[in-house]
Amino acid sequence: MIRRTMAQSFFFIPFVLFCALFLQGCGEEPAVENPPKLHTFTGQVMGTWYTVKYLPFAASDLSLEGIDTQIHTRLSRVDQLMSTYKPESEVSRFNRALPNEWFEVSAETFEVVSLSQSISEKTAGAFDISVARLVNLWGFGPDYKAEQVPDEDNLFNVLVEVGYEKIELHSSELKLRKKTPLQIDLSAIAKGYGVDQVADFLDEISVTTYMVEVGGEIRTRGLKPNGKPWRIAVESPITNQRDVHSIIDITDQAVATSGDYRNYFEKDGQRFSHTIDPKTGYPITHNLASVTVVGKTAAEVDALATAFSVLGLDQAMRYAKAYNVAAYFIVKEPEGFVGKASDAFIEMTRKKL
Ligand code: FAD
Repeated sequence: MIRRTMAQSFFFIPFVLFCALFLQGCGEEPAVENPPKLHTFTGQVMGTWYTVKYLPFAASDLSLEGIDTQIHTRLSRVDQLMSTYKPESEVSRFNRALPNEWFEVSAETFEVVSLSQSISEKTAGAFDISVARLVNLWGFGPDYKAEQVPDEDNLFNVLVEVGYEKIELHSSELKLRKKTPLQIDLSAIAKGYGVDQVADFLDEISVTTYMVEVGGEIRTRGLKPNGKPWRIAVESPITNQRDVHSIIDITDQAVATSGDYRNYFEKDGQRFSHTIDPKTGYPITHNLASVTVVGKTAAEVDALATAFSVLGLDQAMRYAKAYNVAAYFIVKEPEGFVGKASDAFIEMTRKKL
C-alpha cells in the first residue's frame, strides 16, 4: 500500500519543521554571540504533530507552563470545533444537519468558513470546502475505505450536491445553511487557522520571537535568537525520500505546502491524490507535484496552496500575479522536478539577499 497511514502521517508531516530546525543549527554563523535559547513545546492535535518554538517575554505574567497550556488549549479548541474525525465537533454536526436549516456556529468556525468562501470566489471554486463527501468517497477522509476508484454514478450523485455557492452565511447571527445535503471539510485550512490562533496569542502576550508549526503549516515572528531569519525547507516531492528541494528564509510570515506526493493511492498504474478538483469530482491529474505559498496568515496560505494545486501551474501563476502572491511550484518535467517561482516570490527572495 502506498497510501499514507496515520502513523506515517505523524512521521512525515513534521519533516518540514525538522528541516527548519536542522538547518537552523547547521552551517550558519550566528550573527549574535551567545544567543538566548528558544523554548520548544510539542504535542499532538488534528491527527498530526505541532511544534512551537519561542523566546518568552521576560515581563509576561505567564509562566512557560502557563503559555504552553494556552497554546495547547487554543489548538485543541480548533480540533474540537472543526474536525470531521470527531462526530461531535461543530463541523460534524453541521454536516449531519438538514439542508435549508440555519445552524449556529462559533465565531471561530464562522471565520474559517467565511475565509474559505472568499478564497473559493477568488479561485473560481478551485478551493471548495464542500468537497467533504467526495474526499470520503475517494477514501481520504475519516470514513476510511480500501483504495478504489468510486463508481461513476455514485460520484455523479455526490458531485451535483457539491459547490461552495450552495453554502449560505448569516454573518450577524453566525449561522450557516446548506442548500443541498453537502458536507464541509476544513482540512485544507483549519491547521493553518490553528497556527494563526497560537501566533495571535503569542503576539498578545508580547512574544516577539517565535515559530509555530502544525502539520507542516508555519508562521514566524521576528528573527531567530542568532539574528538570522527562520529557515524553512521545502521537501523534494519524491515519494519515500526525505530530500530538501529548496530553502526559504522567512520573517514575520506564514508558509504552507500542498502536494500530491504523500497522500495518494495507486490503482492500475494511475495515481489518485487527496486533492480533489471540485468541478470534476476527481483527484487532480496535472504535473504540479507541490506548491508552497508564503504570506501573512497561515490559514490563507494553507488554503491557497491547495487551491493552486487544483488550478495547476498556469492558472495558479496568473492568480499569483493578479493578487501578488509569493508561491513556489515544483513541477514534474520529463527531466525531473523543476522549481518555478511567482514574481512576488522572486521579489521576496531578492529582498533578503
Ligand atoms: P492540504 O493540502 O492542506 O489539504 C488537503 C485536504 O483538503 C484533503 O485531504 C481534503 O480533505 C481537502 N481537500 C481536497 N481537495 C480540496 C479542495 N479542492 N478544496 C478544499 N479542500 C480540499 N487526520 C487524521 O488522520 N485523524 C484526525 O483525528 C484528524 N483530525 C483533524 C482535525 C482537524 C480540525 C483538521 C483540520 C484535520 C484533521 N485531520 C485528521 C486531517 C490531517 O491532519 C490533515 O489536515 C489532512 O491530512 C490534510 O492536510 P495536508 O497538509 O496533508 O493537506
